[in-house]
Amino acid sequence: MSHHWGYGEHNGPEHWHKDFPIAKGERQSPVDINTGEAKHDPSLKPLSVSYEKAASRRILNNGHSFNVEFDDSQDKAVIKGGPLDGTYRLIQFHFHWGSLDQQGSEHTVDKKKYAAELHLVHWNTKYGDFGKAVQHPDGLAVVGVFMKIGSAKPGLQKVIDALDSIKTKNKQADFTDFDPRGLLPESLDYWTYLGSLTTPPLLECVTWIVLKEPITVSKEQMMKFRSLNFNGEGEPEELMVDNWRPAQPLKNRQIKASFK
Ligand SMILES: [Zn+2]
Repeated sequence: MSHHWGYGEHNGPEHWHKDFPIAKGERQSPVDINTGEAKHDPSLKPLSVSYEKAASRRILNNGHSFNVEFDDSQDKAVIKGGPLDGTYRLIQFHFHWGSLDQQGSEHTVDKKKYAAELHLVHWNTKYGDFGKAVQHPDGLAVVGVFMKIGSAKPGLQKVIDALDSIKTKNKQADFTDFDPRGLLPESLDYWTYLGSLTTPPLLECVTWIVLKEPITVSKEQMMKFRSLNFNGEGEPEELMVDNWRPAQPLKNRQIKASFK
């Protein structure tokens, strides 16, 4: 049942196919990015990110990760270009992370796992809303940003400081005026391929745009992620860690690079 899935031993990614058979589908995510196999495609355009008018609204612990949600009733924060046709509107971002610095990302690069991965989720405005968009193979565009331990990311700190107010499942808080531009690396060079949501229902509706350059976050920032809980308030504490799906078979797909 869709309310039962999680990341624990008994309901984790290895079991998802029983309720969501598409888990064994032809274009599942994440994948390992083999940099030697990924071919530079000179026809790929630069990615255009227009987040100046982004309007964040709320932060929510959904029991699997936490989402920072945006007002997507108008074209306020959009991406276009890159591998995309048309305009995709930002609806939310969230993260996947590990219990240790050596794991946590969903995509891997030549099998290397990063400590965490940011997903900025956008839907194709030609479908009118997110719920309709996920029913189409070109419905979503998710920008993936790898995170490694190093200097603190100042643009992330407002998110970190909000986590105390959403420690447990279903807690939410107002979260306005957050600028998602502060989460991006300098370079927008990317790898791209056709894939899926990495959480149930695992729909095969995503054009993935995975940035080559990681951002750095401090040890202290990463520790705050790991202090969140999967459980609800008043339930036994299960730390929200290792909320990542491992790499899935590439099957008949090619990963393209925007850069040489
Ligand atoms: Zn994600």
